[in-house]
Amino acid sequence: MSSYVSDLLAEVKAKNPAEPEFHQAVEEVAESLSLVFEKHPEYRAAKVLERIIEPERVITFRVPWVDEQGEVNINRGFRIEMNSAIGPYKGGLRFHPSVNLGILKFLAFEQVFKNSLTTLPMGGGKGGSDFDPKGKSDLKIMRFCQAFMGELFRHIGPNTDVPAGDIGVGGREIGYLFGQYKKLRNEFTGVLTGKGLNWGGSLIRPEATGYGAVYFAAEMLGTRNETLEGKVCLVSGSGNVAQYTVEKILSLGGKVVTLSDSNGYIYDEEGINTEKLHFVMELKNIRRGRMKEYVAKYKNAVYTEINPKDDFNPLWNHKAQCAFPSATQNEINGKDAQNLLKNGVYVVSEGANMPTTIDGVKLFLDKKILYGPGKAANAGGVAVSGLEMTQNSMRLPWTREEVDERLRMIMKDIHQTCVTMADRFGTPGNYVNGANIGGFLKVADAMMDQGVV
Ligand code: NAP
Repeated sequence: MSSYVSDLLAEVKAKNPAEPEFHQAVEEVAESLSLVFEKHPEYRAAKVLERIIEPERVITFRVPWVDEQGEVNINRGFRIEMNSAIGPYKGGLRFHPSVNLGILKFLAFEQVFKNSLTTLPMGGGKGGSDFDPKGKSDLKIMRFCQAFMGELFRHIGPNTDVPAGDIGVGGREIGYLFGQYKKLRNEFTGVLTGKGLNWGGSLIRPEATGYGAVYFAAEMLGTRNETLEGKVCLVSGSGNVAQYTVEKILSLGGKVVTLSDSNGYIYDEEGINTEKLHFVMELKNIRRGRMKEYVAKYKNAVYTEINPKDDFNPLWNHKAQCAFPSATQNEINGKDAQNLLKNGVYVVSEGANMPTTIDGVKLFLDKKILYGPGKAANAGGVAVSGLEMTQNSMRLPWTREEVDERLRMIMKDIHQTCVTMADRFGTPGNYVNGANIGGFLKVADAMMDQGVV
């Protein structure tokens, strides 16, 4: 680690204590950017990275709401408006009990680079709450969403900040949030993305992150003249990203053998085919059940409960060629990365944000596998959110084929940017450097043009 990076990290840790995920995200980016600063000291002199690390604005607020039993509940709400150099703040809302300032700052920081890579004019932001939607009635969810938007509405707008979904925030939650925003503002506008098709949503938005992660994997394989046809794939999670990752892998001829939730994972050696995927979609999106129920229906599959005391995740310890982590941050640690490599995995395309720890990433880079980091591989979701904003502005919806084709082209372009930038800065095949540098340069140049603001 260069002295510039270690000094910067020491300062970030001192100023932002108890935010380990944020430190981790900054460390990875700073390491890549030290290659840029050697050739372009002007960015360092203007303290561009130091400015990107400091959010433009952090909003925290109380979310009080009353449930159907009359009980008063208090949650904490956040919105991190990280960087608006190239467009309005854009990034998802996460509702999960683990949500805290450090996690949202890491997500917002990554979002700045990811949004820049999409080639669309979007700044970076992220938000959410420590509210846990799991197992709650629709009425509780609606009341919470209304209370949350009761404060958030004054900070967002179609040209200011445009939130979307993330963990725990899907179509149902976006609907309640949009309804409340519309009531409070008395205007119908494209202030959230991931909306329903009848009220301003885009076709392919629900599919976009998962499809995009698979398109990115296909592009990486293409550099070795290979395809996904016949490849065995490990997928984690069973939410939005995981479901559409599986759908696209199947359509490109791959075989998926795992899925998970926070309680455990299933291993289905025969493969999760389209019928089984539809069962999972119904289980997760409508009945809101647990993955354990999969093995009651498909008897040849095996369910393994996750033991939080284990220092590895057994999901990553099966023979396969490809892995698509699609659940949450740091779900692949150093030991998991070793297990993946030992089992023959040489393609990792991250649907989740920062699912691999720093030591895991180092192993993937040392072994020169095809490793697509989240800020590049999962950028398809926000890219189609950007396309939803365009359609809202034009008041003209595009067809499914048109949006899917644009998504495919954007993922191809992001892949090409990563390859070109990794080459240009002397680390061919290193998609981490490629993504960090490619994302940084556009934002940095905009910040230089706009002065110190
Ligand atoms: P989701 O629909 O809420 O699904 C999340 C899945 O991950 C669920 O299966 C959940 O299991 C599991 N999970 C969540 N937290 C976990 C934890 N701490 N340990 C183990 N499993 C956990 O969310 P999603 O939209 O698919 O998001 C998944 C990942 O993709 C996140 O990292 C998100 O930031 C990233 N991402 C999402 C989008 C998007 O468009 N949605 C775009 C880019 C990146 P339980 O049901 O048991 O909690």
